Amino acid sequence: MPPEPAAIGSTHFPLWREVSDFYSRSRLAGYYYLLAWLLLWFTSPQPAHNLWAWAAGCALLATFFVLRGINRPPKVFDPAQLQRWLIAQWLIVLVHSLTWGLMLAGILLHADIAASPLLVILSVVVFSTALAFTYPMRLLPCALAMLFMYLPSILAKYYQGGSEVGESVALMIYLAYLGLFLRRWNLDYHAGVERELRLIRHSEQLEELSRTDVLTALGNRLQFNSLLPAWLATARRQQTPLSLILLDIDFFKRVNDQFGHSTGDLCLQAFAERMRHIFRRDSDILMRLGGEEFAVLMPDTPLEQAAQLAERFRADLVAQPLQLHSQSLALSCSLGVGSYMPLCDDSAEALYRRIDDALYRAKTEGRNRVVLA
Ligand code: GH3
Ligand code: MG
Ligand code: MG
Repeated sequence: MPPEPAAIGSTHFPLWREVSDFYSRSRLAGYYYLLAWLLLWFTSPQPAHNLWAWAAGCALLATFFVLRGINRPPKVFDPAQLQRWLIAQWLIVLVHSLTWGLMLAGILLHADIAASPLLVILSVVVFSTALAFTYPMRLLPCALAMLFMYLPSILAKYYQGGSEVGESVALMIYLAYLGLFLRRWNLDYHAGVERELRLIRHSEQLEELSRTDVLTALGNRLQFNSLLPAWLATARRQQTPLSLILLDIDFFKRVNDQFGHSTGDLCLQAFAERMRHIFRRDSDILMRLGGEEFAVLMPDTPLEQAAQLAERFRADLVAQPLQLHSQSLALSCSLGVGSYMPLCDDSAEALYRRIDDALYRAKTEGRNRVVLA
C-alpha cells in the first residue's frame, strides 16, 4: 500500500482510503467464489458427471482469485497511478461478476449439469448482496457488477417459463431492494470518509497552530527544534549546504520601557514583516525563537550568500526605521551566521551553539553587526 494518510495529508486522503478499502476487501474475495463452486459441485447429485465443466469452472474462478491478488496498488503515492489501479480493479470485479452470473445461469439452463437450484439461487443472492455490502464506495460500477451477476439467472428462469417466472420476479424485487441498500451503504461509506477527513484536517490545523508563533505568524521554537535536525540530516545525505541566521534585536527592552509593551509587540510584528521582505525565497524558513530572537533557516544556501543577505537585512533595518501605526522606530539588530560543517557539527545542537556564540560575539563587540560562526 502507498504511505499512511498522515504522510499524504487531507487532500488525497479520500483516494487513499478508497484504494486501501477496495484492495483489502477484494483481495481474498475470489476465494469465496471458488468455495461456493466446489460446494455446488460436490453437493450435486452426480459430481462425477460433466467433470470437464466443473473443473473448467474451478480453473476460471482460480484465475480471478489470482488476478485479484496480483493487482496490487502502487507502492508510491501517485494519484494518477492510484486512479488507474482503481479502474483495473473494478474491471476485474465486473468481469468476475459477469462470469459468475453466467456460470450460475449455465447450471440452471444446462439440464445435464444438475445442482441444487436452491444453492444456485442462493449463490446469486448472497454474492450480489456481498457486492453491495463490500464495495459501496462507487455506486455505478457496484450496481453494474450486481446486475451482471443477477441478470443471467433472472433471464434463465424467465426463459424456462412456468413457475420459474415467479422466482425470476421475486429475484428482481430483491435486486431492487438491494439497490436501495447499496445507496444507503454508499452514503454511509462517504459519511465515514468525510468524518475521518474532518479529523485529519483538524489535527493538521492543530499541528500547524502548534508550530506557529501567534504574534508574528512565523514558525515558532517547536518548528525550529523539529526542522533544524531534519534539514541537517538532508544536507548531510545530499551533501548540500545549509545555512542558519540568528537575529536578536538590540536593546529591545528599551522599546518596551519607553513606548509600552503593545508598541513592543507591534515592533516585533513589523520586524517579522521586514524579515519576510528580505528573506523571500520559498525555501527560506523564518521563525521566531522567543522574545526578540529570530532565525532564518536556509536550505541549499552557502555561507557567503547567507552572510550577504544577513548584512543586507542589518543595513536595511538601520537605514529604514520600522513603520508602526503612528510612529517610526529606529532599531538595529545583531546577527550570527553559519553554515553546516560536517567536521564541526555532529548534531543540530552543535550547529546552533556555534551560531549562537557568533551572535553573542556580535552583541559583545558592539551590536548592530553580522558575525560569521
Ligand atoms: P540586547 O541588545 O542585549 O539583546 O538587549 P535587549 O534589551 O534586546 O535584550 P534583553 O534580553 O535584555 O531583553 C529582551 C526584552 O524583550 C525583554 C522583554 O520584555 C522583551 N520581550 C520579550 N518577548 C516580548 C514580547 O512578546 N513582546 C514584547 N513587547 N516584548 C517582549
Ligand atoms: Mg535583544
Ligand atoms: Mg535576546
